[in-house]
Parts: sequence; C-alpha cells; structure tokens
Amino acid sequence: AAKLAGGARLARFDDSLRAQQSERARIAAGLRQGLADGSLFLHYQPVVDPATGRMTGVEALMRWRRDGELVPPAVFIPVAEQTGLIGQLGELALRLACTRAAPWYRRHGIYVTVNVSTHQLRDPGFAGTVLGILAETGMPGAGLVLEITESVLIDAADTPVLGTLREHGIRIAIDDFGTGYSSLAYLRRLPVDILKIDRSFIDDVSFTRAILQLAQSQDLVTVAEGVETATQADQLRELRCDLVQGYHFGRPTDAEIIESLIRESSATAA
Ligand code: C2E
Ligand code: MG
Ligand code: MG
Ligand code: MG
Repeated sequence: AAKLAGGARLARFDDSLRAQQSERARIAAGLRQGLADGSLFLHYQPVVDPATGRMTGVEALMRWRRDGELVPPAVFIPVAEQTGLIGQLGELALRLACTRAAPWYRRHGIYVTVNVSTHQLRDPGFAGTVLGILAETGMPGAGLVLEITESVLIDAADTPVLGTLREHGIRIAIDDFGTGYSSLAYLRRLPVDILKIDRSFIDDVSFTRAILQLAQSQDLVTVAEGVETATQADQLRELRCDLVQGYHFGRPTDAEIIESLIRESSATAA
C-alpha cells in the first residue's frame, strides 16, 4: 500500500509539473503571437518632481492582453526569459517606447525609461540594437534611460556595453535598489546615473535617508518607487528625493492618456 501511495504521489507530482510546463508553453506561444499582432504593448507611468508636481519622465511597462484580459508582467516576463523570447520582447519595448516618446522628449523634455533584462545585456549586439532604434525613431540618447536591476548591473559592469551606451547620452538607472546584495559602497563602482529605491523601503525613513545621502554624495539622481500616499510624498520631499513615482502621482496608463496629461501640464506652465 505504501508503494502504491508513493506512486500516486509521484503521479500527482508529474501531473502538476506537466500542467506547469504546458501553461508555460501556452504563454510562450501567446507571446510569440503577441510580438506580431499588437497584443503586447506599453503602458507609461509618470515620474514626477515632488517639489513642483510636474512630470519629468515616464517609465514604459510592458502589457500583454490575452483573451481580453491583462496578464501581469510577473507572469509573462519570467516565461519570456526562460524561453529566450525576452530579446525580442525587450527590443519591441525599446522600439515602441522610443517611437512614442521621441516627440514628448523633443517638445517637453520628458524622457522615457525602459526595463532591460539580463539576457539583453549579455547579447554582444545590444548596444548596436539600442543605437539603431534611436536612429530609426529620432530619439536622442538623452531622452532614453535604461533600467537595470542590481544583480544584472553587477554582471554587466565589467563589459563595455554600458560605457558605449552612456557615451551616446543614454542614462542607466539601477532599478529596485535595496533588494539585491550590492553594498552601498559597491555602488560607487557601478556605471549608473539614476538610483531607484525599491518600493518595499518606502516607509523605512532611516534606510531611505541613508540611501539618499549616499546617492547625493555620488551625484546620482534619486527616484522613489511605489509612492501611494500624500504622507509618503511629503516625507520624500522633505528628504530631498529628486523624483517620485507611484499610484499617488499616477498609475501606469495608455500612451494617449499620458499624452493629454503632458499637453495639459505644458499648457498650464505656459
Ligand atoms: P519595475 O520595473 O520595478 O516597475 C515598477 C512596478 O511597480 C510596475 O509593475 C508598476 O506598475 C508598479 N507600481 C508603480 N507604482 C506603484 C505603487 O504605487 N504601488 C504598487 N504596489 N506598485 C506600483 P508592473 O507593471 O506589474 O511590472 C512589474 C515588473 O515587470 C517591473 O518592475 C519590471 O521588472 C518588469 N517589466 C515590466 N515591463 C518590462 C519590460 O518591458 N522588460 C522587462 N525586462 N521587464 C519588464
Ligand atoms: Mg523599472
Ligand atoms: Mg522598479
Ligand atoms: Mg520594483
């Protein structure tokens, strides 16, 4: 009987593994189609100067509509990474973001920031791809920021790719700072321009203050992610955090809506 039960457990394990694999295959097939048919697209979230309330940039975030519903990036980005589709997905994100935001940058100085995964950075052709997209879309390097998480950045720090990109005016942001393992001292050696504090630290005032001081001493622009309340916004303003991003200032949304926000705010400024 024990043997039988063990066999049954193993069969259930096999079943769930098989179910997982087929779900992954289904997502991958959907993504492959999405790369061609427009069901993969971008939302944009305002990055705001807390001192003035004005938008200074936008973060481009990939969205996937499958059967009428949005699938979260936390579900499809890992599958794209596991199946090698992330290269094409990342290139699509860069091309869509630069196409859309080139006039925002030219007319209003609003930059776009795009997330980059480890596979893309390992591709020796990556810098060439990015520079090609800038040329193709008319986006100046200064209008583009690439967001890279700590661990990936440490990987890429010794390769020439980040230097090449920065020579063309593209800035590098360290994303989700604080969640990785790089010590604050290590930060000095990373080729970065912008530091984004992970939203899990938003209410940890002493940690936030320490990071902001360090970042300021190294002339990094600081961005706090995940600002959801007015209290948090006030606190970050007092701490002299350069920029903020979060539901309190605006959720990620369609390009059309961002465009009308940009137009409104430049009309009131004029
Ligand atoms: P991320 O780059 O750290 O992006 C910020 C995430 O926080 C976004 O989740 C955004 O919607 C969410 N967020 C913004 N403000 C708030 C807030 O006030 N409260 C809370 N709770 N959340 C907030 P999203 O869009 O689900 O994306 C998740 C992650 O997926 C991103 O984290 C990024 O790592 C990855 N991702 C998204 N688009 C791309 C892409 O085009 N390429 C790559 N490689 N990764 C992407
Ligand atoms: Mg990001
Ligand atoms: Mg982030
Ligand atoms: Mg994050």
